[in-house]
Amino acid sequence: MIRCVVCGEEYDDDEVIYTCKKCGSVLELASLDVDIDKSIFECRKDTLWKYKELIPVNSDHIVTLGEGGTPFCKCDKIGEELGVDLYVKVEGSNPTGSFKDRGMTVGVTKAVELGVDTVGCASTGNTSASLSAYAARAGLRCIVFLPSGKVALGKLAQAMFHGAEVISIDGNFDEALEAMTALALDKYLYLLNSINPYRLEGQKTIGYEILQDLGWESPDRIILPVGNAGNISAIWKGVSEFYDLGFVDSKPMMTGIQAEGACPITNAFRKGTKDVVPVDDPETIATAIRIGAPVSYIKAMNAIYDSNGYSETVTDEEILDAQKYLARKEGIGVEPASAASIAGLRKLREEGVIDKGERVACVVTGHLLKDPNTAIDACTKPVEVSADIDALKNLLTNKE
Ligand SMILES: *Cc1c(COP(=O)(O)O)cnc(C)c1O
Ligand SMILES: [Zn+2]
Repeated sequence: MIRCVVCGEEYDDDEVIYTCKKCGSVLELASLDVDIDKSIFECRKDTLWKYKELIPVNSDHIVTLGEGGTPFCKCDKIGEELGVDLYVKVEGSNPTGSFKDRGMTVGVTKAVELGVDTVGCASTGNTSASLSAYAARAGLRCIVFLPSGKVALGKLAQAMFHGAEVISIDGNFDEALEAMTALALDKYLYLLNSINPYRLEGQKTIGYEILQDLGWESPDRIILPVGNAGNISAIWKGVSEFYDLGFVDSKPMMTGIQAEGACPITNAFRKGTKDVVPVDDPETIATAIRIGAPVSYIKAMNAIYDSNGYSETVTDEEILDAQKYLARKEGIGVEPASAASIAGLRKLREEGVIDKGERVACVVTGHLLKDPNTAIDACTKPVEVSADIDALKNLLTNKE
């Protein structure tokens, strides 16, 4: 059953609907009432479909590339420096290099179940990279709107190469999404942005996995970057479901980090309200969270307040610094938006919001190679020398 998050109005699972007909708010799938023991998840193949009993689609015909089951790395070096017990959930290890694959395996499976022939999304990059791959796998036509000139190179390459019809919109992400949504409402295509509640049913498994990874315990806190605010809502739904099923006995504080130039959620949190005022000209080097009007804002504010969580901003400089810190201290390469979680951890420790010794899980959302230009710009160019052994010895000894 699909349910309105605000007024509670209910809709059938197979109704193609993105917002409530009564009040216009966002929708969610009602949690499934199942009688299962958590031990059934232990020995299954490590993809998110090991949780199939809790995912509301027909699991006999799934469209999958093996998403989920991503590394959960204990990061003792950074953890020690920052005074926390730190784990990093590496979502760049998904098939197309971001957590969006978790949403798309479920969303595209539902699209096939509904019998649609065309899917579409507006995207800052990763949603289109993922949808184009899953649409190709399912044999669906795929239409993608991208904000002109603001999509990282790796993501653009993926969307184009998997055969999506890529249209560059002269405007920002929020404007591209508005146009795409209008086409979906006129039934030109099935919308697979995160306003589609089936997307979040896949992404909630990040929450499931973190709890299972910790041996059926909750971390004190989950930190992640927030753009359109679907993922923080989904992870909160996941951990809440496991709590309600009795699989864990506590829940984490949901901590959403935004870029200073695109921070409507943090602004609302600072005012102590759920009323999110859109930011008109969002700007940040972290293009994946360059979003001014997050569609899932109500769910995100509920997640933050209900979990006794927090929201903070970080500057582009802090993001780039954290990106390099994670890459060089722990060997984990992530795109700029993902590094917002590490930058946020650093800042909230300095501010004393995060206590010493807390057990923290940072979700890093996308792979370093998504945005090669930013990575290269952040480094000094390699020196050029001939392959002369003496010259090379000289060079290496004189370094340091
Ligand atoms: C989509 C995305 C985000 C933002 O997630 P939301 O659900 O829009 O808040 C953050 N990081 C990366 C790498 C993404 O692709
Ligand atoms: Zn409603």
